Amino acid sequence: MTRILVVEDDPAIGRLLRRSLTDRGDVVTVAGDGASGLSLALQEQPEVVLLDLGLPDLDGRQVLQMLRAVSQVPVIVITAQDDDRTVVQALDAGADDYLVKPFGSDQLAARIRAVLRRAGTNSSGDPAVRVGELEIDPATRRVSLGGTPVELSRKEFDLLWLLATRPGEVVTKREMLAGVWGLPFGGGDRTVDVHLSWLRRKLGETAAEPRYLYTVRGVGVRLAAPVPEA
Ligand code: CA
Repeated sequence: MTRILVVEDDPAIGRLLRRSLTDRGDVVTVAGDGASGLSLALQEQPEVVLLDLGLPDLDGRQVLQMLRAVSQVPVIVITAQDDDRTVVQALDAGADDYLVKPFGSDQLAARIRAVLRRAGTNSSGDPAVRVGELEIDPATRRVSLGGTPVELSRKEFDLLWLLATRPGEVVTKREMLAGVWGLPFGGGDRTVDVHLSWLRRKLGETAAEPRYLYTVRGVGVRLAAPVPEA
């Protein structure tokens, strides 16, 4: 059983893929555009993403770049035309493999097995992350601080998990917008700020006195363990 996210705007192809993968025992989610594909990729932590390059809202290669900023999930690109340049660009942007439509379900299953084998994961995805006393489990979407559960909204969790996948590293607002809200460009900065402040309140800290969420002015936010008091 593999958790698979299909990003495909053609409903007939989406249904076909869902049926053929579900028949093999996989758990399939279908997103009809790039933005919802990006947010589902973060929420559901799929083990494989099948990404159509021709999407209504974003270019599939843009989706791939934004996805790569936040996730190493294996991506198989689906392309309509056997256009070498498009395929090369997609592979350069971080795709693991590609399929040209139309393709058979056996071929699809073989490609999925191959990327999973290369990724070295064939089971339950990312393990829980611990930063100081903060524990974040993507499988159950549970968060605890010093053993006490912290209740987070869906977006708050997604935001914290995004930061937790790169502990100690500065994650830019642009990456947060893309990864959590599926927004490609600026204009939603306030959204990020508001959610960060809610998250801080629930973690018992403020921007002025951070314990886990450190703002790097003009760049982004870094998740790190609290500095021990001298
Ligand atoms: Ca399409």
